[in-house]
Amino acid sequence: MQKLVVLGAGESGCGAAILGKKKGFEVFVSDKGAISKKSKDVLLHNNIPFEEKTHSEQQILAADLVVKSPGIPDTIPLIQAIEKNGIPIIDELEFGSRYYDKPIVAVTGSNGKTTTTLLASHVFKKAGKQVMVAGNVGESLAKQVANEVESDLAVIEISSFQLDRIQDFRPHIAILLNITPDHLDRYNDDFELYAASKLRITRNQTEGDYLIYNIDDPTICRHLEKNKTKAQLIPISLEKREGTGAWIDNKNLIINIKTGIEMSIQKLALQGKHNLYNSMAAGVAGRILELRKEIIRESLNDFQNIEHRLETVTQVCGVRYINDSKATNVNSTWYALEQMEEKTVWIVGGVDKGNDYNSLVPLVKDKVKAIVCLGLDNSKLHAAFDGVVDHIYDTDSMYDAVGAAYRLAQKGDAVLLSPACASFDLFENYEDRGRQFKEAARGL
Ligand code: ADP
Repeated sequence: MQKLVVLGAGESGCGAAILGKKKGFEVFVSDKGAISKKSKDVLLHNNIPFEEKTHSEQQILAADLVVKSPGIPDTIPLIQAIEKNGIPIIDELEFGSRYYDKPIVAVTGSNGKTTTTLLASHVFKKAGKQVMVAGNVGESLAKQVANEVESDLAVIEISSFQLDRIQDFRPHIAILLNITPDHLDRYNDDFELYAASKLRITRNQTEGDYLIYNIDDPTICRHLEKNKTKAQLIPISLEKREGTGAWIDNKNLIINIKTGIEMSIQKLALQGKHNLYNSMAAGVAGRILELRKEIIRESLNDFQNIEHRLETVTQVCGVRYINDSKATNVNSTWYALEQMEEKTVWIVGGVDKGNDYNSLVPLVKDKVKAIVCLGLDNSKLHAAFDGVVDHIYDTDSMYDAVGAAYRLAQKGDAVLLSPACASFDLFENYEDRGRQFKEAARGL
């Protein structure tokens, strides 16, 4: 019997364990931390042995295959020992996809993955397809495959950590939205390494597959030059018409795959420049699958926006409060500021992942009337923005941050939480941060 060791007992680890068991592996799950009650129940129910708060190296090194949670860094001694022993290590998505025989649409990029995954799924569902949505959203791919969930295709959100371990994963349609600095701490502060990992999404694609990519992104173009793909390339662009599959022309979104679709950008459910790429990518994917034009237009129009992404929460004394807690890097905040129409009180800060705030300075000068820093260490924010705006305040709780913003904002202004940072200094995660913001704003 082949031995499968699963490292990490979160949603994806449990999914991989269940699938492994079903496919005849002898499975063992090991987690260095405490395993949640929910995961324990799942493992016990499926009769899968596990350990927590430790890794028994001997048992792990007896594996024929290791499935590792993307959260575990490659640099820890255990991973190095596994590699030294020549045991293959893969990710849950790779493992799940080995047992999935329908087409896969895979979405990656530094920003916009969840939005585009859900938007594309919405387009496909509206056209009557049964869609398996996996990756960061919903249940893990492996678990759904194990449970034989019926589907015509899968739409998978995939991060660079997951791509690092790709071996055979081959999406029929890959979407590469953008590559901007994020998670550089995991890539030795090397942007090129991080970028190269994103390109792995296309490495197993063949002539019958498609790569939809953002041709306005110089990093993507540079890396595509270096790493030729066999897939059919379908660029999308805000300006460029020639050779592109979708572009923006005079406030209209044009999709030109097989036959053309044109729709006013005002009709798009997701507003803001960044979302144009997301809508174009989802629409192009729909056309590749030969979905009806009318359905694509309708679904790009009636999609419901998701929580914590430029979500208008409330209006208090003529001031709009916007929750963009999911903006955990500089680029996503750039887009948030860029689309602001009101004068903005900007709440920013948290755990800095090696941010360079320079690109935000012109937008801040133009749109921001005051900055409220929300983090345990705000020194980099002060270094970047002291003197750029008249008012810059420090806070270390959401309640205080929203209170300060309330005092600074006047009728007609907006208060934007778009932190450009991770949330772990003061919050459990970005959802917790967003929820606290909404609670505080609604309580004003
Ligand atoms: P991800 O899953 O890649 O983290 P999300 O869809 O959750 O992306 O969005 C994360 C943040 O990035 C949000 O603040 C959102 O407004 C912003 N965003 C969404 N799409 C894009 C895009 N194409 N380019 C840049 N920023 C984007």
